Amino acid sequence: MSSTRIFCIGKNYAEHVAELAHLGHNPDGDCVVFMKPASALVPEGEPIVLPRGSGSIHHEAELVVQLTGGGRDIPVDDALNWISGMTLGLDLTLRDLQTDLKNKGKPWELAKAFDGSAPLGDFKPYLDEDLQALEFSCYVNGERRQHARTADMLFSVARQIHILSQTWSLLPGDILYTGTPKGVGPLEPGDRIRLESDAIGVFEWQCE
Ligand code: MG
Repeated sequence: MSSTRIFCIGKNYAEHVAELAHLGHNPDGDCVVFMKPASALVPEGEPIVLPRGSGSIHHEAELVVQLTGGGRDIPVDDALNWISGMTLGLDLTLRDLQTDLKNKGKPWELAKAFDGSAPLGDFKPYLDEDLQALEFSCYVNGERRQHARTADMLFSVARQIHILSQTWSLLPGDILYTGTPKGVGPLEPGDRIRLESDAIGVFEWQCE
């Protein structure tokens, strides 16, 4: 059985957790796990159609990996063996709506899992690069908004895979968004967004 499940980890870079603390987002030292449907994916070359009328929509640039499977209870020290590819993607977030849902104790799907909420670059084969020694950046209209050093992740990619495998039997094709660094901010129709990493590649989308 193959999968187009999209798993996402939240609250994985301390400075990003801190930048949202004023919205009541709780820095409790734990990560958040959520999912997006396959209809969230936007390949490079297709426009990002921003939802209208739901408040601000933020870019969250993230390292993304794809798995060859792995099943249940994957040990941390075996987790990287299940990665087939890596790329960069955007975890688009309706920030005002997410804050409202959080404050009411409601699930996040309306703010995180809408159609088009997961622009994703093409996967590059994973050849045992050190995933905790990568850097990537997010530019909006040529201006750098986010810069990540994956060494700053609170939960390593291997640990994220281990955590997911305690709840789900991981399948070939599963996709994992690994969290965003600080610098998240609003997108507007007409914006051009570019994700860039020396080790992975360059990916661009036009917002409509
Ligand atoms: Mg995110």
